[in-house]
Amino acid sequence: MPDFPIRRTVRLIGVPTDINSSFLRGPAQGPAAIRKALSSDHANGTAEIGDAFGLDVSFNDVGDLPLKEDPTDDWLIIDAVEAAIAAGEMPFCLGGDHAITFPAAAAVAKAYGPLSILHFDAHPDIYEAFEGNLRSHASPFARIMEAGIARRLVQVGIRTLNPHQAAQARRFDVEIVRMADFAPDKVPVLDGPLYISFDLDGLDPSIVPGVSHHEPGGLTVREALAVLSRQTAPIAGADIVKLNPARDLHDMTATVAAKLVREIAALAARNAR
Ligand code: MN
Ligand code: MN
Repeated sequence: MPDFPIRRTVRLIGVPTDINSSFLRGPAQGPAAIRKALSSDHANGTAEIGDAFGLDVSFNDVGDLPLKEDPTDDWLIIDAVEAAIAAGEMPFCLGGDHAITFPAAAAVAKAYGPLSILHFDAHPDIYEAFEGNLRSHASPFARIMEAGIARRLVQVGIRTLNPHQAAQARRFDVEIVRMADFAPDKVPVLDGPLYISFDLDGLDPSIVPGVSHHEPGGLTVREALAVLSRQTAPIAGADIVKLNPARDLHDMTATVAAKLVREIAALAARNAR
């Protein structure tokens, strides 16, 4: 098992797929939109968490994976995440829909052992299967828990828990901080190795219209940053998923996604010290 290197380089891996989405396609266009916002001249590239961006952390963008929209895509994701870890860089996948988190987190856990996962989302994504699809974007955390990839799964922003998913959460000992009684300090400070999975629809749709599933009553950007900045564990990997540019307005959602990429990268650098 490799030691944690000092996380000064974050490897951006574009994962342009939405074959496991329900309701709408679109997140396959997410990585390009996040990159465009990350390199936009509108901002100076600093982060609020940690020190000034560019001094402590840099990006190595390896572009989009050549996905084929079939089950072999999982192996491309796994190989790309393993390559980042082998190079001493933190893998950060730009989705894509939420199905990508299963192979991405599996590869991180293979290197570092079972993970603590901090999962931002409106939805718990722990259906046994959705519309008959075991690999649905509504099921990645069921697959993750079955496979022993996470020893602890904490979900934040949840506001769509139905009886089936509540039963699944009990079955897998998932810790859910429901939006109805959310406060940043109700989210535990997790041990490492920490994996962060950020579904943009965990935020309020008035902030991030560019997602397929508008679920009112979500987190503000400030609340998400408060949860993130309290985390002190080494970060082993991350993903941000579900940007659907066709639903976006004035690149608002892409701009938020780019900020979260910068902040999570800066958090990884801070926590590596
Ligand atoms: Mn969601
Ligand atoms: Mn999700």
